[in-house]
Amino acid sequence: MPPAPPASDRWIVLKFGGTSVSRRHRWDTIGRLAQRRAGENDARVLVVVSALSGVTNELTAIADGAADSDVRLLQLEQRHREFAVELGLDPEQVLGERLAALRALGVDPRAGGRDLAWQAELLAQGELLSSSLGAAYLRAAGLDFGWMDARQWLQASLLPNQSPWAQRLSVSCSTSPSEGWSAAFRQQPARMLLTQGFIARHEDGGTAVLGRGGSDTSAAYFGALLGARRVEIWTDVPGMFSANPREVPDARLLTRLDYYEAQEIATTGAKVLHPRSIKPCRDASVPMAILDTERPELPGTSIDGGAATVPGVKAISRRNGIVLVSMEGIGMWQQVGFLADVFARFKKHGLSVDLIGSAETNVTVSLDPSENLVNTDVLAALSADLSEICRVKVIVPCAAITLVGRGMRSLLHKLSDVWATFGRERVHMISQSSNDLNLTFVIDEADADGLLPVLHAALIDSGAMPVEETSVFGPRWREIAHGIRKRDTPWWQGERQRLLAMAAAGTPRYAYHLPTVRARARALKQLSSIDQHYYAIKANSHPAILKLLVQEDFGLECVSLGELQRVFEVIPELSPRRVLFTPSFAPRAEYEHAYGLGVTVTLDNIESLQRWPEVFRGRDLWLRVDLGRGDGHHEKVRTGGKESKFGLPVARVEAFVARARQLGTRVIGLHAHLGSGVETPQHWKQICDELGGIANRIGSVEIIDIGGGLPIPYTADDEPFDLDAWGAGLAEIKAAYPGYRIAIEPGRYLVAEAGALLLSVTQVVEKDGVHRVGLDGGMNALIRPALYDAWHDIVNLSRIDEAAEGVFDIVGPICESSDVFGKRRRLTVATTEADVVLVADAGAYGFTMANAYNLRALPKEEVLDV
Ligand code: ADP
Ligand code: ASP
Ligand code: MG
Repeated sequence: MPPAPPASDRWIVLKFGGTSVSRRHRWDTIGRLAQRRAGENDARVLVVVSALSGVTNELTAIADGAADSDVRLLQLEQRHREFAVELGLDPEQVLGERLAALRALGVDPRAGGRDLAWQAELLAQGELLSSSLGAAYLRAAGLDFGWMDARQWLQASLLPNQSPWAQRLSVSCSTSPSEGWSAAFRQQPARMLLTQGFIARHEDGGTAVLGRGGSDTSAAYFGALLGARRVEIWTDVPGMFSANPREVPDARLLTRLDYYEAQEIATTGAKVLHPRSIKPCRDASVPMAILDTERPELPGTSIDGGAATVPGVKAISRRNGIVLVSMEGIGMWQQVGFLADVFARFKKHGLSVDLIGSAETNVTVSLDPSENLVNTDVLAALSADLSEICRVKVIVPCAAITLVGRGMRSLLHKLSDVWATFGRERVHMISQSSNDLNLTFVIDEADADGLLPVLHAALIDSGAMPVEETSVFGPRWREIAHGIRKRDTPWWQGERQRLLAMAAAGTPRYAYHLPTVRARARALKQLSSIDQHYYAIKANSHPAILKLLVQEDFGLECVSLGELQRVFEVIPELSPRRVLFTPSFAPRAEYEHAYGLGVTVTLDNIESLQRWPEVFRGRDLWLRVDLGRGDGHHEKVRTGGKESKFGLPVARVEAFVARARQLGTRVIGLHAHLGSGVETPQHWKQICDELGGIANRIGSVEIIDIGGGLPIPYTADDEPFDLDAWGAGLAEIKAAYPGYRIAIEPGRYLVAEAGALLLSVTQVVEKDGVHRVGLDGGMNALIRPALYDAWHDIVNLSRIDEAAEGVFDIVGPICESSDVFGKRRRLTVATTEADVVLVADAGAYGFTMANAYNLRALPKEEVLDV
């Protein structure tokens, strides 16, 4: 048996947050974990708990004087009684006294004036109740648990210049134990102890609280006071992530952080850890861990002094409710002591300033609501004081969005997409911390919604967030929470020999796997909500693919005369009724020709009707409308909204229909296509719904064409599109508009995964630390990466079994700096001249967009069937 550690090193502190204590099975986990820890080398365990989830919110509302406080108190009592029953406990016996205390606080004479000491006592009841329930439950389960009142052990320290509010409701505690303290603590008879987070003893002997989320800090104080082996924060996510996982599903787990980075992430908004909880542990060298009560087997995040230093952005966080105070004064910088006067006024109101920005005549500062009481009274008093020396403007509510990581200054060149994203919003303030650990943007709160996922993706794409560093970055939240629906093994893995043989006959060469096209076609045909299927041949107009899809009962959608000619050359017997012509800004002759062929023509503007009435007179057509917005995987593939050249604005539909009527032209189809590579199935449901409404107004419409744009999973993390959910959504809408047939016209979905581009390695070159693999085709053969920053998986087909441990930029032979297929891609270090490289998922918009730039020959094409 290992020797027993010194008494001071025996403690392990476990803190369980609100959601971790609100369900019976989680208390079972708490008991199990505590026992397991107690078994670790003769440890003693201190469990610190929060109030049941939502309880502190309710108590805060009552402390703030909510009109329905009586009802809220009753509901709180009820909730705890019910939970006691759920835990198999007698509510009266376990909670009787505590609930009486809660009721008494409700009618306390101090309530009227919202006395701060009364507020603290009221807020403390949540933790007192939850810990009483928990201790009783664990004891009933036979565990050796003692219950302690945290107020006996944590002493609030009053800091200079703190407002009375902060001195009572946002306190810090002392972390240097007296001799007597440690001795007394060790005397506690039970092996395992349970106490409250959030609460402490005020200097006057009453109650003080540590501020919202402060239970983490209680645990840290105990950890520091006890010199604990570690402090574990158990919550509802398995660690600290690179962004709030609830807002950014692609956020990555941060497996290991040093205290300073963790501090910065917590301070700038990652609610998972209370910002004041890190310093006590850091000062006492107590390691911390963040773990998930529901998934206790996951490793979580470790925070300690020994974490490796990896430069780059680790996290992006957001704080809401930020108050900006902008102060204008003429020529103030020349005035000695101006800033001292300004800050004296903040000090007078007990306000601690967060960010500071200054200009010749303006100083702007931000106030963080988690550190300050910033209600309207306080702001009015501050403004009145400040207006004696300057013009004051208060801007609320703002959001502070912060990038956190080591070496922010040296990353600026990688942040161009981040700047561009913010460029669309009004940025009130940008601040860079002097410790080079953060960069903060303050914008209006309303503008911040939806921004974090975009910024997070931009940080990864630009390389500013080095997610390939596995010593820091772990899996995505999405993967942890839902598991990844894996893509099927790609067809080309089973066809390697054939593909290598094809490549030997010359590269660049596209190979199309017809069984894959067939499988996608059949999957779409299976959906009962869709009546007519068209294939958008611009994705890939190879004759074998056209023939196959026509056999599978797809019609064909063309956008030019050239495409129409291809279709009838390849399948002369094809009925023109199965062909759509949906051009953009085509010359008049193309429409005439199309009508001559008997195919269905789609028009998307009124001007053509007006200028060329004889082309459309007496004919049928489909109308393409613009529903006012675009969507899709890249700005360049969004085909709706003001910026896009496609579609008739909905507001002009009436005029179009009136003009068509004059010409005896019937609008029999209604079409919209807002973009490509859209990942949300709801997108088409919404389109269908809107088109149905417009069709009802037009009267003559028989068919609604909801376009294409179905995505495919280009990256290993993309989930396959949920066709069933998509079909079900459409079926709902169809039921609402039973009079119309529904048509779709996908391209990519049918053919992208069926195609691979085969290339040969020309050169492998190192320059300034970057290793590049050159290929004999680039943006001339496949333009998607250059044009849309599109991702394609890239593998060394010749050496597919070798570990891909080298990191390379994969480039083509074209004299353009955008001729890059992928950056920082992994291939085997043995990659060398003449190896065959396969670029996956290149069946759509590959050959059809290829070009002869630099007078390089077009790629060859080949099909594989069965
Ligand atoms: P507890 O009640 O256990 O103290 P909190 O709600 O205070 O839990 O903190 C956990 C929550 O913090 C998570 O559910 C998550 O929504 C939020 N959060 C915000 N930012 C982050 C982040 N960067 N990493 C992990 N969680 C975060
Ligand atoms: N119960 C307190 C709150 O909700 C403290 C905590 O949960 O950490 O703010
Ligand atoms: Mg918390």
